[in-house]
Amino acid sequence: MEAWLMATMAVAEKSTYDFAMENFDIAADMLGLDSDMRNMIKYPERVLAVVLPVRMDNGKILRFQGYRVQHSTARGPAKGGIRYHPNVTEDEVKALATWMTWKCAVVNIPFGGAKGGITCHPEEMSQAEIERLTRRYTHSILPLIGPAHDIPAPDVNTNPQVMAWIMDTYSMTKGYPVPGVVTGKPISLGGSLGRKEATGRGVYYTLESTCSHLRLPIKGAKVVIQGFGNVGSAAAHMLDVNQACITGVGEFEGCIYNKDGLDIPSLLLHKQKTGSVVGFAAAEPIAPAELLTLECDVLIPAALENAIDGENAASVKARVIAEGANGPLTPEADRILEAKEVFIIPDILCNAGGVTVSYFEWVQDEQHLFWEAQDVYNRLERVMKTSFNDVLRIHLDRKVGMRTAANMLGVSRVAEATKLRGLYP
Ligand code: NAD
Repeated sequence: MEAWLMATMAVAEKSTYDFAMENFDIAADMLGLDSDMRNMIKYPERVLAVVLPVRMDNGKILRFQGYRVQHSTARGPAKGGIRYHPNVTEDEVKALATWMTWKCAVVNIPFGGAKGGITCHPEEMSQAEIERLTRRYTHSILPLIGPAHDIPAPDVNTNPQVMAWIMDTYSMTKGYPVPGVVTGKPISLGGSLGRKEATGRGVYYTLESTCSHLRLPIKGAKVVIQGFGNVGSAAAHMLDVNQACITGVGEFEGCIYNKDGLDIPSLLLHKQKTGSVVGFAAAEPIAPAELLTLECDVLIPAALENAIDGENAASVKARVIAEGANGPLTPEADRILEAKEVFIIPDILCNAGGVTVSYFEWVQDEQHLFWEAQDVYNRLERVMKTSFNDVLRIHLDRKVGMRTAANMLGVSRVAEATKLRGLYP
């Protein structure tokens, strides 16, 4: 086989987990971490694969594959969301768990990193089937989870209702309610005000800091958003309130564009009524590939991993990329965009608002004392802006990209905790 073809195949075969490992190595090299420390903090501590037989509404049993990965407990209990999606694999969950470790360290909350997932098509399942799947999964990962051990939360295609079922299943095994076993719960079960919109709000706060650093006014800035779920729609709402001009929005079902700016409150209502942004009257449909390469000041990928890669990165015209999603840029896209001097707010900083308010929720549950929404917002803003400045300082002092700066901050804090606990030989 010719060398160029082998090289291309090797790139194509790289998984999201390979990308996570690659990013770790770049940060560890910059920090001068020795191989002992790398061996202690780089890899997941626990990987649990579970098989989930579930009775479907037609009476038949289907078998689903699920995972829970704890990457690190060096700085505290493991923390991370649960994803229901057909593309869930062990490698993907390991990558997402790894990023959670650095993310919690970047925003300096006392958690390690974890993630869970089930390979399934939730859009083809009834609520009753999703409930039975969730309860079976919770039962299967019982040995790992608990308020002091590992605390799940929502991710793609999971929501407060799913968290309520997890909390209930876990509580049944204890004989008393244990709200602190999950975050992102409904308010009536011990959820926190401000958790639902926390990730999108956090994206907005990091954008505010970026815009003041770059002297780019938010008012009138042209913004394009890929993904209009929990993260994308909450970020859109905050940007709209602050008079940014959102020209393009895309979802799995289709993408829409209006050069004069989309009417976000009406679009939110349309999504609520129809389930997607498709068919919104005051906009024209555009192709998914076009959405990412629209002329704009800010691009927010808030859908899934690897949306921007070596193929399309050169055509991206944004000045700032705010990573609402986890891992939306491949390392190759990173290199291309950095060369174009695009300012990237990396995922482990940009979307850390969700886990930050999850931490607030866990604190409130443990204390049985609940905070007002404005209190949550103020604390979140403080955490996001402090973390942004911590990462920016490394970016400027060490002359590295924002992603490497964020990874250096996260990895160094985990390494320090590991050393202080005496795990270091
Ligand atoms: P969600 O399920 O609420 O929404 C996902 C959105 O992505 C939907 O609008 C969907 O249509 C869109 N999408 C899926 N595939 C797409 C495709 N191929 N092209 C265009 N759009 C597509 O999920 P979410 O909670 O908003 O999570 C989105 C991202 O943010 C994920 O990467 C997740 O890991 C990350 N994240 C979420 C949270 C949180 O608190 N929910 C926190 C941190 C990071």
